[in-house]
Amino acid sequence: MPDFSLIYKLQFTDLELNTQGKRIDDIRKKLGDRAAIIAVQKVLDRLSIKINEINIRQKKTEDEISSLITRISTAEQKLYGGQVANPRELQDLQNDIAQLGRQKDNHEDELLAILEESEPIKVQHDGIQEKLKSAESAWDTLQNQLNQELASVLESTGKLKNQRDEMVSVIPNDTLELYDQVRSRHPQGKGVARVKNNMCESCLVVLPARQVQALRSDSTSTRCTSCGLILLPE
Ligand SMILES: [Zn+2]
Repeated sequence: MPDFSLIYKLQFTDLELNTQGKRIDDIRKKLGDRAAIIAVQKVLDRLSIKINEINIRQKKTEDEISSLITRISTAEQKLYGGQVANPRELQDLQNDIAQLGRQKDNHEDELLAILEESEPIKVQHDGIQEKLKSAESAWDTLQNQLNQELASVLESTGKLKNQRDEMVSVIPNDTLELYDQVRSRHPQGKGVARVKNNMCESCLVVLPARQVQALRSDSTSTRCTSCGLILLPE
């Protein structure tokens, strides 16, 4: 039976390389992923548009009130200034002032409603702006952490690959081919498993006594009938 003990060591390295490879993929996916921040920014943008639209309505209403105040004041100056003596004209002026006053009242009610409408939206906007600020700060921190971790995992992976090259250089080609073939089909990327207490240590199936016996004495490799891994003696 070929010497699979080196393969057993190689498997540790390969499994670790798999884990590190997955972590590297995961980190690369997370690096630069601003989806969460963009989502908050979109909510903020929508609120900003709403606030802007309310501000325009507010300004228009305030301008209308201000214009009505000027018109009322002009009419009152005319009424009380003594230039108009005709009672009919005086009555018309009084009617105008009363009507302008009513218009002003209506616009003031409108203004109040606008202010009431805008208040909670502004509070919500400010809250989300704060949330965005802390999300951005957390994102920066995470990106730094991920970059550091990536550098460290890449360094470790480089070392493991060198170790692997050294191990592989002394393993016979046919043994290595069999191992690669088995692990390429195994869900966890395993190629070999030791036999412990007559069980396959990977899938924990109890092996036939004959197989365990053959494994101890035989020169051919044997595979677990359940998970297909190459079995190594205890
Ligand atoms: Zn097994």
